[in-house]
Amino acid sequence: MTRFAGVSSTDRPQPTVRIFTDFDGTVTREDVGEALLRHFSTDEDIDATLERWSRGEVNAAETYQRLYAAAPHLTESALDAFLVGFEIDPSFARFVDWCREHRYPLTVLSDGFDAYIERLLRRAAVEVEVKANRMRLGEGAPELDFPYTDRRCPQLAHCKSNHVALLSQDEDLVIYVGDGSSDFEAAGFADMVFARGPLENWCQEHNITFRRFYSFTTVRDILSALIDQRKLRPKKRAQVLRRQLWSTG
Ligand SMILES: [Mg+2]
Repeated sequence: MTRFAGVSSTDRPQPTVRIFTDFDGTVTREDVGEALLRHFSTDEDIDATLERWSRGEVNAAETYQRLYAAAPHLTESALDAFLVGFEIDPSFARFVDWCREHRYPLTVLSDGFDAYIERLLRRAAVEVEVKANRMRLGEGAPELDFPYTDRRCPQLAHCKSNHVALLSQDEDLVIYVGDGSSDFEAAGFADMVFARGPLENWCQEHNITFRRFYSFTTVRDILSALIDQRKLRPKKRAQVLRRQLWSTG
């Protein structure tokens, strides 16, 4: 209970259903980040570099730095023009409203970049908390910043599990929604996982129970029913992982 040191029990926020979601391939159907990289980076070894990253020979931040160093034409206006072809899943906007109505905190955790995520959300008039890598556009190649790297997650530019553990309270019911490799580690910290794509296989291989989702309508309907029936339960293993990270982090 060190986390509440100095805070009286009456000041403690009420336990809640707390939801974390990935962005690329989850809030959007496509991986916008990868499409952006492939469109703007002139690095000739893009596939080889991505391959080395997937084999764990280089880390994500180094990979991004290298590939975006070869993207001198990625300006604000070029990004706006590129994003015309992409949109967030309309079911996500309704999901954000549902979370707000029920006061369930919702956070987007992305291993991509704020520059395109915030533009796409703004265009859809969706307001939600986002934690992502940072990209500043100006003259020449974009400036990148990675505020959420951690040695615990050497493969990732953004160690999402830190947020899952540190933003939640012991009694919260933590929900994670995702699709890809940037979600693998973090999903183990959630009481309930909604998965599709590679995250499904990973959950199966690691004995993590999950529900497959097609859109955020599925997520909302399943969660809503479980909450109404008081069947949303904590998962011991996830609670222990969150507590361990809390006490060491
Ligand atoms: Mg994804």
